[in-house]
Amino acid sequence: MLVGILPTMLLRYAILENYENRAVTVRINDVQNQIKILADHLITYNYLTDTSSEVVNAELAMLSTLYDGRVIIIDQNCNIIKDTYGISEGKTIISEEVMLSMKGQTSSNYDAENQYIEVTTPIIDNALLQKNAEEDDGAPNPDASLASGVMLTSVSTDNIAANVEILQGQATILQMLAAVVLVALAWALSNILVKPFERVTSAIRETKEGFNTEPISVMDYEETEHIITAFNELLGRMKVLDDSRQEFVSNVSHELKTPLTSMKVLADSLIAQENVPVELYQEFMVDIADEIERENEIINDLLSLVKMDKTSADMNIENISLNELIELILKRLRPIAKQRHIDVLYESIREVYAEVDKVKLTLALSNFVENAIKYNSDYGYVKVSLDADHQYATIVVEDNGIGIPEEEQEHIFERFYRVDKSHSREIGGTGLGLAIARNAILMHRGSIKIESQEGAGTSVIVRIPIIFVSK
Ligand code: ADP
Repeated sequence: MLVGILPTMLLRYAILENYENRAVTVRINDVQNQIKILADHLITYNYLTDTSSEVVNAELAMLSTLYDGRVIIIDQNCNIIKDTYGISEGKTIISEEVMLSMKGQTSSNYDAENQYIEVTTPIIDNALLQKNAEEDDGAPNPDASLASGVMLTSVSTDNIAANVEILQGQATILQMLAAVVLVALAWALSNILVKPFERVTSAIRETKEGFNTEPISVMDYEETEHIITAFNELLGRMKVLDDSRQEFVSNVSHELKTPLTSMKVLADSLIAQENVPVELYQEFMVDIADEIERENEIINDLLSLVKMDKTSADMNIENISLNELIELILKRLRPIAKQRHIDVLYESIREVYAEVDKVKLTLALSNFVENAIKYNSDYGYVKVSLDADHQYATIVVEDNGIGIPEEEQEHIFERFYRVDKSHSREIGGTGLGLAIARNAILMHRGSIKIESQEGAGTSVIVRIPIIFVSK
């Protein structure tokens, strides 16, 4: 609306102002031309010494009627010899304009407030001037009057003002009409243009309130298309998150239920029998205790996983020797390996200090080494090596165990995922170990790579930055 109305206001002001100036200039020129002709007649009829010339008087009367004005004729002594209003004759007039005109200058002045134009014109007798010049021998007196008299003419500009007023009225009407059209247009256009965005809002709202679960579509503008595409992507990501959350919950329930079911079966069979021998009780109780232990293990792993899901703000960063950390882990796990005659080797290529969360990194590395022992064959080996460049520490856990089939490798970091379900069950484990380890390494802004060949062995290559970057 502003863009439409402001220019019309400026235009109105500029055009009207210009019209008035132009009309006044034309009027001044007109008057000056008429007066010049009259001035010549004044000289011809010697009016300055004798004001009885009927011809000149008639011309003066006509001029004042034509322009609705007043003509005053002043002689060289500044006496008013003729006033068409007849009120100032015989008086003397001295003003700047009159004095300047006596020296031959013409002046004009527009009084917009009182609506009249005043024109001062010299009456010049060229024959007299020539005669004077000859007598003065070419040395004219600069102060001498050039003119024989002055005509002071005031003409009314009432009709110009009236025209301006009429134009102003018309402009106002036009402006009002333009404003009405512009307001209507602005209202209609903004309503039409904003509609698609309202559709976007209501589509998003419907999705939010659960009435719609499908991707939405508002293809009216490229802009709405972009918004909707971004929104659908967000929706897709939320769906993936929601699906994985549901899957996780169902996996957790399933995993927690399995030991409970076993315990229930064991207990039921004891209850169902009469006179159960003590040996059987003891045997079943050992099995029940095993299941309780397994339940405990799953819950502990779940708690570790939840801890690892937090942000880096929860990291407890210390600058420690990774060599010492690995040696401690291996010392703890060697007895387990020894039971199956598995050699645990350690190759430290250099001393490496890094900024890490000791507890989280220990948990991750322990998981890799435990797996290398668990999924190994008797008399196998596990080799851990530590190296570093100026940016990263690299830890490799290598084994010559059962290996992981190529197509399974991308899944082993998923929660509860186990390659060989039946075999894994004997070996033990929850399928959460690698998920926990991966989260821990990612929290250090590190990376994990698996290189494995079925039947030949597995290498887990972990890289973590030596300097911890929190963002
Ligand atoms: P689990 O508790 O079953 O060990 P993990 O998450 O630690 O769970 O490992 C997931 C699966 O990846 C394991 O069940 C196993 O099949 C496979 N896996 C992990 N590490 C190795 C390895 N070093 N050698 C062979 N298979 C492995």
